[in-house]
Amino acid sequence: MDKKMFCFQCEQTAGCTGCTGNSGVCGKKADTAELQDKLTGALIGLARSIDDTAMVSENTWQIIIEGLFTTITNVSFDNAAIENMIQKVRAEKDALVPGCSQCQSPCGRTDDYDMQQLWDADEDIRSLKSLILFGIRGMAAYAYHAKVLNYEDPEVNHFFCEALFKIGYEESVERCFLLCSK
Ligand code: SF4
Repeated sequence: MDKKMFCFQCEQTAGCTGCTGNSGVCGKKADTAELQDKLTGALIGLARSIDDTAMVSENTWQIIIEGLFTTITNVSFDNAAIENMIQKVRAEKDALVPGCSQCQSPCGRTDDYDMQQLWDADEDIRSLKSLILFGIRGMAAYAYHAKVLNYEDPEVNHFFCEALFKIGYEESVERCFLLCSK
């Protein structure tokens, strides 16, 4: 399989299996798909840095919602804007855990997640985590627009954080299934 890109997040996906090669059915290019993966990995890194949601500012929730919304199917194919979003996510992580990125003995706990690990995972884990990921991307689209109208649900925000963390961590089919059924 040509692995220049891999995306199977929408119903248009090539051959009902996944868009690969230089671009997807929707016109998304391989470099954009890669940046969307990097942004998702950075969001998981941000979720990893949140030990207690009480420490989270309004700005953190805004960035999580905006970052997830950015990665939906065809919301943004603007590479510069996605790069900019990645930098915003990393800056927010640095604000939450100052000094972590300069640590001389990095433990990796707040590292960005490499999405290739997900695409290469056991098929049940890959399926369940993808379901969770695509689900929270869709939820973020609604949350983003609700926020514009000054509506926000703390429970939904916490779920974004929990789901992102578990996509980067959870390896049990049963626990992934439980999260899917929430
Ligand atoms: S979002 Fe685009 S690249 Fe991804 S599966 Fe759908 S058509 Fe393919």
